[in-house]
Amino acid sequence: MHAMVLHEGTAKLRYEDVAPPTCGPEQVRIAIEACGVCRTDLHIVDAELKDPVLPLIPGHEIVGRIVQVGRDVDGLAVGQRVGVPWLGRTCGHCYYCEAGRENLCDAPGFTGYTLNGGYAEECVADAGYVFAISGDADPVGLAPLLCAGLIGYRSYTMAGDAQRLGFYGFGAAAHILAQIAVWQGREVCAFTKPGDNAGQDFARATGAIWAAGSNEAPDTALDAAIIFAPLGALVPTALKAVRKGGRVVCAGIHMSDIPSFPYADLWHERQIMSVANLTRQDGEAFFPLAEKAGVQTHTTLYALKDANRALDDLRKGHLNGAAVLVP
Ligand SMILES: [Zn+2]
Ligand SMILES: [Zn+2]
Repeated sequence: MHAMVLHEGTAKLRYEDVAPPTCGPEQVRIAIEACGVCRTDLHIVDAELKDPVLPLIPGHEIVGRIVQVGRDVDGLAVGQRVGVPWLGRTCGHCYYCEAGRENLCDAPGFTGYTLNGGYAEECVADAGYVFAISGDADPVGLAPLLCAGLIGYRSYTMAGDAQRLGFYGFGAAAHILAQIAVWQGREVCAFTKPGDNAGQDFARATGAIWAAGSNEAPDTALDAAIIFAPLGALVPTALKAVRKGGRVVCAGIHMSDIPSFPYADLWHERQIMSVANLTRQDGEAFFPLAEKAGVQTHTTLYALKDANRALDDLRKGHLNGAAVLVP
């Protein structure tokens, strides 16, 4: 099969003909219909995330059809559509797994990072970690829900019942969560790169009541802010924009350093927290909610062999919405 492969010491993926993956007894083998391109893929290719298993097939926003079911798997069938997320495996017995916090597992497997992912024609996945998803929707539209949507949703729940929410960085995740927030009757303020007028127009078209550069302050204090952009400098900026008792949620898996800031900006019980990975319960809550809210993803399509171009466009901030690869 064809796949895009990351090798030791290279910053580009190579389009290769590789052996199809073998389906283990507790796995399913999947013919991939679409795979989203997430910013985390960029952090892996750019070596900002350490120790990927090389050679590696990246990609953790996979939508496809099952073509083979391992002999110990129950409840999944050939032909069924499934989604494969970032959390590919957990140990099931560490402190965190036993406490219902499998997103923090001490010995996890991550799709497209420590396990091969979806920049390919086929993949295998542990059957217990795939989500059964809508069989008739457009697979390209569904792919960004698998990480931008899912981990974005976890960040969104961490923002609590905030009525007025700020999203710093209005990319794939924010454009999905903005639709859910609006559907729930909340207000979204979008902060883009200063001067990114197209991004601000896109945010307004997606339901934001206010959109401006991240160097601007909102006219009313925010109840909570979620930082989707990988810029640590946005943490003190967002803290200044939230009201007393407000919370700043850092949604990214990787972020540049946070500059020092006056304690007065944190004072009055403001909080900063990070969100790591996802649990399967997040998926069980999120996918039905996204369907009820009628979430429509905005996507740019790339052929599998053009994955490097998709990553480049994401790096340069040239995309509104999400990039998706189709094998
Ligand atoms: Zn564990
Ligand atoms: Zn991701």
